[in-house]
Amino acid sequence: MSHTIAPVLGEATLQGLRDTVRGEIVTPDDEGYAEARRIWNAAHDGRSPALVVRCAGAADVIASVSFARSNGLLIAVRGGGHSVAGFSTADDALVIDLSPMNDVRVDPEARRASVGGGAVWADVDHETQAHALATTGGLVSTTGIAGFTLGGGIGWTMRKFGLACDNLMAADVVTADGRLVHAGETENAELLWGLRGGGGNFGIVTRFEFDLHPLGPIVYAGPIFFPADAANELLRVFRAWAAEAPDEITAAINLTTAPPLPVIAEEWHGRKVAAFVATSSGPVDDGPSLVREIRAVAEPIADLLGPMPYHVIQTLLDPLWQKGIHAYFNATNLARLEDDLISRLCELHLTSPGPQCEIHLHQMGGAVGRVAEGATAFAERSMPFVLSGATGWHDPEATASHREWARAVVAAASASSTGRAYVNFLGDADAARSAYGEETYARLVSLKNDYDPTNVFRLNQNIEPSAAIA
Ligand SMILES: Cc1cc2nc3c(=O)[nH]c(=O)nc-3n(C[C@H](O)[C@H](O)[C@H](O)COP(=O)(O)OP(=O)(O)OC[C@H]3O[C@@H](n4cnc5c(N)ncnc54)[C@H](O)[C@@H]3O)c2cc1C
Repeated sequence: MSHTIAPVLGEATLQGLRDTVRGEIVTPDDEGYAEARRIWNAAHDGRSPALVVRCAGAADVIASVSFARSNGLLIAVRGGGHSVAGFSTADDALVIDLSPMNDVRVDPEARRASVGGGAVWADVDHETQAHALATTGGLVSTTGIAGFTLGGGIGWTMRKFGLACDNLMAADVVTADGRLVHAGETENAELLWGLRGGGGNFGIVTRFEFDLHPLGPIVYAGPIFFPADAANELLRVFRAWAAEAPDEITAAINLTTAPPLPVIAEEWHGRKVAAFVATSSGPVDDGPSLVREIRAVAEPIADLLGPMPYHVIQTLLDPLWQKGIHAYFNATNLARLEDDLISRLCELHLTSPGPQCEIHLHQMGGAVGRVAEGATAFAERSMPFVLSGATGWHDPEATASHREWARAVVAAASASSTGRAYVNFLGDADAARSAYGEETYARLVSLKNDYDPTNVFRLNQNIEPSAAIA
């Protein structure tokens, strides 16, 4: 078999790892390899790692790090496997797959959740909603809590409860030298600072501890779909509305193509639409008054915004972004949303190369904006909007046109950008320095020097340690 690892590692060497870990080791010779090596983004799925270790616990993670280092293997770390840039796999690498470590323990009294490093948001929402509690999670329930939280974590409750990383109270981390350290407000506090937005640069997080908040089970949430010719007016109204909206509501605009769902009239399927999507963390009865101005923009194609279980809004987008799609995202933080930019975004919407080319405008502010700049590694706090071009396609021939279009969305906003970006929405590697800005980047480098001076954890938006350059 062409991929066999025996010539590289030797079965005897591998046996040493087999004797040490509890979890499954999958090599190219194993039947399960094709599935074990798969990540969410098919655009990066052609890669052939040397082996995948499906870790059963922190000890397996420690053993895997040590084995990779002793044998000169690149390490790829996988939580939910949703890295858009394809960071969670690489040719000839050892993939440390935490997905079996997905247990969630909730302490309803303390309003805390202790979550394994391989859990996805569906796992967390399931356990926390049993107590009508929640923390800010992803818009798609199959996204890993790990990569999501470590990069920041933009979700439907962020303006009320903060980003996911703002709710990260403590973490257990396997470091590059194989130690298991605890990071909290009073212990390794600088490491906790870096885990709140600095990505997977400092170690492998085996356990996350999140603050929880009362929410649901019913919330006022969902999308309103408008025709594309209302997009310009919707964005103008959204701009003014977003600046005044209370923290209870978090919303986004999605300039997209109507999916073929039974809730949307068939004549609209496959046509360009502008969606307003929101979730209120406040009383359900207050919901309609929060969105009155938005509803007045135009006659909707479908108005699905109303009372619904929180877990429904958390899974609503899952069918549109399934594992195996080819994807590319790009993003920038906006300082302002001018009329010119609105017009340009509307044009790009109408001229997109495929049905799954989406322009997202996330409403920021609220609790996100009240955290002091620099209090966490998350790059920026004051931007009113995060703009992203999110594309998905199935025909590999369509790769270039989709990537170019998503880049054009961000380029259109160059005069309105703060210059920074949310690292988890970037489909290209090597973007860390500009995304974080010089001040935060310098502090991240200093932390990297302390915890990973030889850049063992480099498959990420990489913070390059000074020691590795010297
Ligand atoms: C369909 C989809 C929807 C998304 N929706 C949102 C959204 O609503 N809001 C948002 O903010 N982002 C969203 N994202 C972006 C998402 O936050 C990032 O892709 C994130 O990296 C995914 O985390 P993961 O664990 O699933 O990814 P993985 O591919 O498993 O990991 C990505 C990287 O994170 C690091 N990492 C993963 N696990 C660990 C760990 N245990 N310890 C240390 N480092 C680790 C590694 O560097 C790894 O390379 C979405 C992405 C997709 C594909």
